[in-house]
Amino acid sequence: MSVLRLAIPSPLRRLFDYLPPRDMNGSEAAGLQPGLRLSVPFGRRKVTGYLVEVCEDSDLPLAKLKHADALLDTVPLVPPTLLQLCDWAARYYHHPAAEVLGAAFPRPLREGKPHQPAGNPGWRLTTRGMGLPVGGLPRSPRQAEALALLQTAPAVSNARFRECGISAAVLRELCSKELVEKCTLAEAPMVPSSNPGLTLNREQAAVLSALLGVREGFSCHLLEGVTGAGKTEVYLQLITDCLARGRQALVLIPEIGLTPQTLDRFRARFNASIVVLHSGLGEAERYRSWEAARDGSAHIVIGTRSAVFTPLRAPGLIIVDEEHDGSYKQQDGFRYSARDVAVKRGQLEDVPVLLGSATPSLESLHNVGTGRYQLHRLRQRAGASALPTIAAVDLRRQALQAGLSGPLLTAIEHRLAAGQQVLLFLNRRGYAPTLQCHDCGWVAECRACDARLTVHRRPACLRCHHCGATHAIPRQCPDCHGASLMAAGLGTEQTEDFLRHRFGQWPIFRVDSDSMQGRHAMGELVAKINQGQPGILLGTQMLTKGHHFPAVGLVAVIDADAMLFSADFRGEERMAQLLTQVAGRAGRAGVPGEVMLQTHYPDHPAVQAMLNVEYGDQARAMLLNRQAAGMPPAGQLMIVRSDCSDPAYGEKFLQTLRDRVALPPGARLIGPLPSPMQRRAGKFRCQLILLAPDRRTVQLATGALVAQAEVMPARHGLKWSVDVDPQDLY
Ligand code: ADP
Ligand code: ZN
Ligand code: ZN
Repeated sequence: MSVLRLAIPSPLRRLFDYLPPRDMNGSEAAGLQPGLRLSVPFGRRKVTGYLVEVCEDSDLPLAKLKHADALLDTVPLVPPTLLQLCDWAARYYHHPAAEVLGAAFPRPLREGKPHQPAGNPGWRLTTRGMGLPVGGLPRSPRQAEALALLQTAPAVSNARFRECGISAAVLRELCSKELVEKCTLAEAPMVPSSNPGLTLNREQAAVLSALLGVREGFSCHLLEGVTGAGKTEVYLQLITDCLARGRQALVLIPEIGLTPQTLDRFRARFNASIVVLHSGLGEAERYRSWEAARDGSAHIVIGTRSAVFTPLRAPGLIIVDEEHDGSYKQQDGFRYSARDVAVKRGQLEDVPVLLGSATPSLESLHNVGTGRYQLHRLRQRAGASALPTIAAVDLRRQALQAGLSGPLLTAIEHRLAAGQQVLLFLNRRGYAPTLQCHDCGWVAECRACDARLTVHRRPACLRCHHCGATHAIPRQCPDCHGASLMAAGLGTEQTEDFLRHRFGQWPIFRVDSDSMQGRHAMGELVAKINQGQPGILLGTQMLTKGHHFPAVGLVAVIDADAMLFSADFRGEERMAQLLTQVAGRAGRAGVPGEVMLQTHYPDHPAVQAMLNVEYGDQARAMLLNRQAAGMPPAGQLMIVRSDCSDPAYGEKFLQTLRDRVALPPGARLIGPLPSPMQRRAGKFRCQLILLAPDRRTVQLATGALVAQAEVMPARHGLKWSVDVDPQDLY
């Protein structure tokens, strides 16, 4: 008797056994392929399960097993390599297999809808129709035209018939004579081609030729190239080669809405089918893109994090741009790193993987050090532009207007007068981070989080940036009823107000998640900025991500101090990456660039490093410190988090877990401790941190902790999660 072992959407990290559907005979059942979807009863629900394997027997008595209701696919919809990838990810991240597999399917298929090939609907000749001579059907000119068209290709799409002015009615008449039949055209007939690229400089050419030398088989490469070095040009030329070999390229980028230029560059270079996958897509569009990637009609798949799980018919190359970017890590639910999954995928698909960044993560530099990745460097900017000069502005005892010092204001004026653009970086949206009573010191705090409320002016309200709660701005202090409430600290809205007042004759663009609502907002803004008129761009880190703004001559960091005193062990790395990326927006097209860092601590080592040491050397020094401290990427981390309406219960749960699990040698637990922001959206959060010298030990320890946690009762709405390779310790 065949038993079907399925992954079922459930919080449990185990598989479930079913008997085959009642209408299926034994040999059919034995031949079922992994990856097939089945509809099965689960508790009182009907759910979609994924076949993992067909077994001879079950650990449970067969009489206890339920029958699956129905087989949903005739062939597995995703290739075996992708199933292996999901299996690996479920094990590595200790996440329920069905949810991981779900990442490889669009929602309608996860929900058990039948698979419809997205191929073009069309018509082809029947055997009888093929017997007709060229110039047949002369008595009916419309039908004759249709026939003539069908005699030029194996099949013709409905769209093509419409273009030629042939109506569906004509085809139906031919169909009734059994001369034509309906079909789908599986693959786009398009043959991809590329427009000529730029003539590479010496460094770029060397990198490209090294990468072309390893185009077959798996290998992993880090392209460390300063901002504006022409990494994208290298990607494009590598993809040209990939397409010429009839293979597909998968390109991951951090955020598509923020970087419409990247897409434009791809579209301008290739006459090929490029599909885009990101969370902003409508369901139908997403499904079509997925299907095109799957059936091979898409030549280039560009997507954000989750696109790493897109099925590909003939992958040839995987690129992860801005590989250091934090958005590659999913921070809730299935907590995976798309960069790391991409590397694993390259290994399983046996294709090269290229990670690129001006500010590589310490993880990737570590992997270069251990020989897992090959390093390629671009040390110079492409074309004519040089790297910008960087200077600190000592803010001590300086008069500030909306956070801007005299020297900075003068520099802004000069640049505007010279017809250039200025980019001001302030990583705090809203008007002010705090509302305070000048009489008694009361501060507006969120009721649900351990956090202050941010003052917003447009629209006027107090908002929590952690749970989204919004309140009206009080007229008087709720504690002392005084009327001296004041907004303390600086946010982008406030600086914008000042800039409009002071530089009213120039356009001012504010770029943060409040001002950039809607899918096209960023694209429209980037288009305006790239007209090159002088003006000021003011924004949060949204402005720093990979943009190429040719007219920007001056970049200023309004509050560099905000980043100096991070408690997180990655704080220094993040600051160096962010500042280098911000600085990299300056002087990208010939205009000599200048960067000003406003700080009260010009002698702080991190500020000095920014001024005097290039990112690559800073990062390598930080890596040595991490290695000495046994912290990632040298040591490994995992966090078990609890989230509970009762603060004591969450901590007790983790304590019990800790007490009950015997750890493998070398593993060490810290905690349970309240998270740095303990209360968020009304829930109390605690964490247990696992430190281990290597991944194998993390895997063993995490397996033991998860197995124990799964059998422990969880009251008070307690939810727990595991985070392997966490990005943040909160
Ligand atoms: P990165 O991706 O490394 O930040 P880009 O690929 O965006 O750099 O290149 C920066 C600028 O330099 C772009 O305007 C690009 O067109 C230009 N560029 C890149 N390579 C060359 C080259 N070989 N010759 C001239 N200009 C180049
Ligand atoms: Zn008060
Ligand atoms: Zn809140």
